[in-house]
Amino acid sequence: MASPIVVDAHMHVYRTKAEGERHKAGYEIWEYGAKPGVPFSRYGGDVDDAMAAMRQAGYAHAVSVNLFAADLAREEVLATLPPGTDRARALTEVDDTMGDRLRAFNRWACAVGGTHPEITPFVAVDPGVLSAEANVAHLRELAALGARGVKLHPVVQRFSPDDPRMLPIYHTCVELGLVVLSHSGTARGATQHAEPRAFAEVLRRFPDLTVVLAHLGGGSWRQTAELARTFPNVTFDCCEIVEWTGAPNAPSDEALARLIRDVGPHRVMLGTDFPWYDLDHTVERVMALPLLSREEKEGMLGANAVRILRLPL
Ligand SMILES: [Zn+2]
Repeated sequence: MASPIVVDAHMHVYRTKAEGERHKAGYEIWEYGAKPGVPFSRYGGDVDDAMAAMRQAGYAHAVSVNLFAADLAREEVLATLPPGTDRARALTEVDDTMGDRLRAFNRWACAVGGTHPEITPFVAVDPGVLSAEANVAHLRELAALGARGVKLHPVVQRFSPDDPRMLPIYHTCVELGLVVLSHSGTARGATQHAEPRAFAEVLRRFPDLTVVLAHLGGGSWRQTAELARTFPNVTFDCCEIVEWTGAPNAPSDEALARLIRDVGPHRVMLGTDFPWYDLDHTVERVMALPLLSREEKEGMLGANAVRILRLPL
């Protein structure tokens, strides 16, 4: 029997291993509660690491959904300042050049896709960094460079998915055939910008927009099935949550499988969130889920991503 195609619908690729390691160290995953023994990857996550991990685990393709946020850009500059540098001045310089930093970050992601046909780039959009008009112009440039979608993180980037500044961007995504993949989950504090129901208005206004909610709703996974029932244009990846099953605020393996069954397994894609988790282990986790047929799980491994994300395979 031919082995199924395996595609990572959600990985991160860093410019250097050190940058990936710093980002992993600074990104606390708390929303599921404590779970001992979650198997984190040892990779830093630069392009060489990503390609090695894909080869080793037999992946045909991966989608890079790199995150850009002003706060992260500031932290990264502070972490790499030569000793004796004026920190306040360095921060002013970062803020004055934030738009250029976002553009350079995205152009680099597209260049990686240009030299590595196994990696399809999604690019970052941040309504707090560029104006809606500038974001739209930048997206047009990136689509011509091979970008197939955009990545949002409403918690770290601090905006609501239905923020009016985002609407021209969603319009442009529909026009250019770009997919919107967003982090979803629970946030600390009152503003729940990334729980599944926070996306309802966008899904209602843009029925032709393909939206992927990462982590199947994360710590807010109990909202996910209803959203999926209401909006046929929402799809999901299962990264992170598939490694946290059994934690206090995460589903059990059985509850996760039941959620995937409720949503429709053809709407759920394997993602790894590499370099947080390992590619081979994620495949094992998906294939070990109860209640789903072998065919359904094999579709989640890759065929669903090829179809939903319209990947050039
Ligand atoms: Zn991610």
